[in-house]
Amino acid sequence: MPASLKINKRSIYFRSQNVIIAIFFENLSKNQQVSNSYIIGNAIFAVSSSFERPTWDEYFMLQAELAKLRSNCMTRHVGAVIVRNHRQIATGYNGTPPGIKNCFEGGCKRCQLRMEGKIESGASLDRCLCNHAEANAIMHCAILGIEAGSEGAILYTTFVPCLECTKMAITIGIKKMVCLDTYPETDYELIEEAGVKVITLEKTKIEYWAKKLIENYNEKLIPK
Ligand SMILES: [Zn+2]
Ligand SMILES: [Zn+2]
Repeated sequence: MPASLKINKRSIYFRSQNVIIAIFFENLSKNQQVSNSYIIGNAIFAVSSSFERPTWDEYFMLQAELAKLRSNCMTRHVGAVIVRNHRQIATGYNGTPPGIKNCFEGGCKRCQLRMEGKIESGASLDRCLCNHAEANAIMHCAILGIEAGSEGAILYTTFVPCLECTKMAITIGIKKMVCLDTYPETDYELIEEAGVKVITLEKTKIEYWAKKLIENYNEKLIPK
């Protein structure tokens, strides 16, 4: 776990993620304020109360964002995860099927034409060889024989699913979808009829945790 430790004659300062523990060997000066402090012997232990971590929705959307990094499609990068009882049971990102040339290497003619501006956005999707991220997560369940369970599972996706993916999600028992971006092809009437809840997460929250991740990488590690 990335953490930092500072030791000087007057204090020890330890920081890990968002927990800050400072031990002062002398009385605190007037401008040193802490939320909780304990006096043991001559030392003062000060513990910060600023502990924070992502909510479940933010946590699983971050997993979908990570999956997105593996996308091999030239036109759009999407990631998806399926979650049951707060556990990730499947993952997917968009791209050509296994064993087929990657989309960015020319594996999908339709994506290539789209990139060259010869096809409009959303057109000729039936000729696209790239599997959608949600479809790949759903197929992950099929390949490994994982059920969504009687209480239903949650689909986290960096885009709202298209009509095809929505049909498959309903079929396997997805009861809630948590999304970041909207997609023009989404059938909200179908989603409503199936009794599936759709939640859109604020992108700023995901950006916040992505920044935190980088900040933690930059912190000095405690020497072993
Ligand atoms: Zn593609
Ligand atoms: Zn789709």
